[in-house]
Amino acid sequence: MLEKIRPEDALNYHAQGRPGKLEVVPTKAYSTQRDLSLAYSPGVAEPCLAIAENPEDVYKYTAKGNLVAVISNGTAVLGLGDIGAAAGKPVMEGKGLLFKIYADIDVFDLELNTKDVDEFVRTVKLLEPTFGGINLEDIKAPECFEIEERLKQELNIPVMHDDQHGTAIISAAALLNALELVGKSIAEVRIVVNGAGASAISCTKLYLALGARPENVVMCDSKGVIRADRADLDVRKQQFATARDLDTLEEAFVGADVFVGLSKGNVVSPDMVRSMAADPIVFAMANPTPEISYEEAVGARPDLIMATGRSDYPNQVNNVLGFPYIFRGALDVRATEINEAMKLAAVHALAKLAKKRVPDAVNMAYGTDNLQFGREYIIPKPVDPRLLAAVAPAVARAAMESGVAQAPITDWAAYEGQLAR
Ligand code: NAP
Ligand code: MG
Repeated sequence: MLEKIRPEDALNYHAQGRPGKLEVVPTKAYSTQRDLSLAYSPGVAEPCLAIAENPEDVYKYTAKGNLVAVISNGTAVLGLGDIGAAAGKPVMEGKGLLFKIYADIDVFDLELNTKDVDEFVRTVKLLEPTFGGINLEDIKAPECFEIEERLKQELNIPVMHDDQHGTAIISAAALLNALELVGKSIAEVRIVVNGAGASAISCTKLYLALGARPENVVMCDSKGVIRADRADLDVRKQQFATARDLDTLEEAFVGADVFVGLSKGNVVSPDMVRSMAADPIVFAMANPTPEISYEEAVGARPDLIMATGRSDYPNQVNNVLGFPYIFRGALDVRATEINEAMKLAAVHALAKLAKKRVPDAVNMAYGTDNLQFGREYIIPKPVDPRLLAAVAPAVARAAMESGVAQAPITDWAAYEGQLAR
């Protein structure tokens, strides 16, 4: 069990010393007058002119290539809802901290004071020269879909809404491994998805890309099963409408192999889990309270594989397993986007890493000596130092193979060696 965090501890952590969690640090010498003449006027004119002549040189002479913008409008912050742009800033700074410590990527966090999709998109477009990539964060559905789609289309740097795709990638890796453990094929399993929001839709799309069959998927929202004959569905929900004669989540559970919860806490009962097929897989990922508690689910079914979004139980679906390394790989080949091939590469790299022997340092961090691939360890742990060298090259390679890498890697041994350092 993790140590319980008291509110005052969290507030003191953020307030102590220099407030917040990030600062800007110079990367060049600045101690002499000559250094300053190089860093600023007159020397700085030279890289300016070089970039004016050859726009690609911005990657050679500025921080752009290692700089990601974490951008939010504060409309769907953690599970806290629409708390506003400034109130979301601690989360965005926190994301910046994680990018830095796990992948040495620098972040400017930008909190935009707008709920207007056009204004948001226009603002981010104008920022493109500054950044090597854009991580959209904690923007509510449905606006998040249009914002991401438009920015992906209109920008020439990678854009990813982590709440959608990060979750999809990590949970998909966990799903592939869980299915392997129970000897079921993704093409055969019946999947119930509870929730039809930002994360649920993206997760379901990725499972389909991995081979799940649309006719085997039943999705529910707050009103129950998404059926073709419902009149209240928007196009995003319509694409997952089932032809089966089901109304309630409870009915959908019967005989299902996989449950994916991205909805809200305490909406699944032990009886529902009991009604599933043999060796059921239950990913109850509502945060901080899962759709069904770990104790209740495991108590209901000894043959179950369970994952949650929480760090205090086995199999935490934690986005930090993905975004630092996905952006690392994308930046390192100067990818113009983060496409499906790159996401799938990240899924397979994560799934594969979980099957390798766990380093002592990881065991020690969790106070155990026996983490090994199995029902209680289907995805790597966030502190695993091998994640960077496992995921980033896979993403970079997929970017190259799918034709979106502007600066392909030629010496893979050198690249991987550099990441492993
Ligand atoms: P979202 O866009 O607001 O979507 C929430 C969805 O849940 C909506 O489709 C809503 O239905 C549905 N819903 C609400 N109550 C329901 C109920 N009783 N039964 C069935 N569906 C219900 O939110 P999100 O960003 O996708 O996040 C959803 C949840 O997943 C949150 O708890 C979040 O913390 C968690 N999450 C966890 C992870 C992780 O573990 N790594 C990652 C992402 C999200 P309507 O469409 O009818 O309103
Ligand atoms: Mg988020």
